[in-house]
Amino acid sequence: MDFTTSTERRKTRQIMVGNVPVGGAAPITVQSMTITKTADVEGTLQQIYALAAAGADIVRCTCNELEAAEGLAQIVPRSPVPIVADIHHQYKMALAALEAGVQCLRLNPGNIRNPTQIKLVAQECKDRGVPIRIGVNGGSLDKSLYEKYGDKVTPEAMVESAQMELAYFAEIGFDDVKISVKASNVPLMIEAYRQLSETVDFPLHLGVTEAGPPPAGLVKATAGIATLLAEGIGDTIRYSLTADPVEEARAGRQLLEAMGLRERKNVDLIACPSCGRAEVDVIAVAKAAMEAFGDRLIPLQVAVMGCVVNGPGEARDADIGIAAGRKKGHLFIKGRNVAVVPEDEMVETLVRYAERIMEEGVEAVLAGEDLDKAKKAADADRAALLGEQGADANDAGTRVELIRKAVDGA
Ligand code: SF4
Repeated sequence: MDFTTSTERRKTRQIMVGNVPVGGAAPITVQSMTITKTADVEGTLQQIYALAAAGADIVRCTCNELEAAEGLAQIVPRSPVPIVADIHHQYKMALAALEAGVQCLRLNPGNIRNPTQIKLVAQECKDRGVPIRIGVNGGSLDKSLYEKYGDKVTPEAMVESAQMELAYFAEIGFDDVKISVKASNVPLMIEAYRQLSETVDFPLHLGVTEAGPPPAGLVKATAGIATLLAEGIGDTIRYSLTADPVEEARAGRQLLEAMGLRERKNVDLIACPSCGRAEVDVIAVAKAAMEAFGDRLIPLQVAVMGCVVNGPGEARDADIGIAAGRKKGHLFIKGRNVAVVPEDEMVETLVRYAERIMEEGVEAVLAGEDLDKAKKAADADRAALLGEQGADANDAGTRVELIRKAVDGA
C-alpha cells in the first residue's frame, strides 16, 4: 500500500546543513539534541552515534561556554551526522562554534537582541556558507513583542519575532535560514507555524517545546508535529522529550515512517490488543519482540498475535508474524503458516526468520519449509480452541442475551 497522509507539501527553498538537504524536495529529516556536556567529547560522540542509529539525521549540541566550543572542534570531524550548535546569550559562542566547524547555528531571537551582534554572526555564517536556524520560542519571546501583543504569547508575536531576525539578516544579504516557532502549547504552536508558512518560504523546523516526559510528551509532540505534516508544513522535525534523547530520535523517525514520509529502515511491529481469546501475554511478547528487534535494519512489518484463531488472518498483510495457540507459537510469513515452535521460543523464532527473509528473500524461506505440516498444526490448534472457547471467547453473545432479557423484562 502506497499511501502517505500528507497533502501536497508546501514548497520551500532548500538549504544544506552540512551534507543534509533541508527543505525543497528533500526528505523530511529528524533532529535531536545531546544532553551531555559538550566539553565531554567522548560522551557526546557516543550519544551522537546512538542518536544517529535511532534515526537522527542532524544533531544539536549546546555551545554555552568556551570548553563546549573546544569540544565541538573535536566532535564535528568525528560525528556521523551534521552538528548544529545551540547558542544561548553570547554571540561570541556563535563565532567560536563557527571556528569549531559546526554545520549550522541555532539562534534564539529572544536571547541575542543586539542588532550589531546578530549581523556580525550572520555575516560570518554567510562568509562560511553555514546556515542559521532562527529558533523562536514562545517561552522566551522578546519582551517588547510580548508587550505589543497584550502581555501574551500569540502566533502573530512569534511570527513577528522571526521576521525581525530575518530583517537583520536581509540587511547583509544573508538568507541561508530555516525557522522554528515552537511553543509548549500545541494549538499555539500549530497556528504559529501555519501563519509562518503563509509568510515565508524558508524551510521550517517543527517541534513542540518542553513537551515533557513520555507518554504525555510523546502525545503532545505528535499532536503538533503530525497535524502540521499532514497539512504539508514542515521540513525537519524534533521531539523535545524529557527522556533519553534516543527516544526523541526514534519517535521522530517512527512518526515519519508511520505517515509514509520516510522510507522504513526498521521493524514496523504490529500486535493485536489481546482479548479473552489470547493464549499468551500479548503485551509481554510484543514488548520482548520490540526489544529484540530494537533499531536493527530490518524493514519488515512484524505481527505478534494473541491467538491462532484470528491472528494469522487479521495480520495477513504482515511480512512475518507469530500467533499463540495452546502452548505453541505458529509462525506465518505473508499469511502462510510456516513453522510451529514452543511458546517460549516465539520471539527468537520471529527474529531468526526475519533475518532469513532479509538474507534469502521470502520465496527462498518458504521453499525450505514444510508448509503443509505447519498449516495442519495451525488448523488443529485453531479447531481445538474454537471447540474449547466457542466462536465468542469474550462471551459477549451471552451478555447481550442477558441485557435483552433485562430490558424486555423491565
Ligand atoms: S482474537 Fe486473537 S488475535 Fe484477535 S485480539 Fe483476541 S487474541 Fe488477539
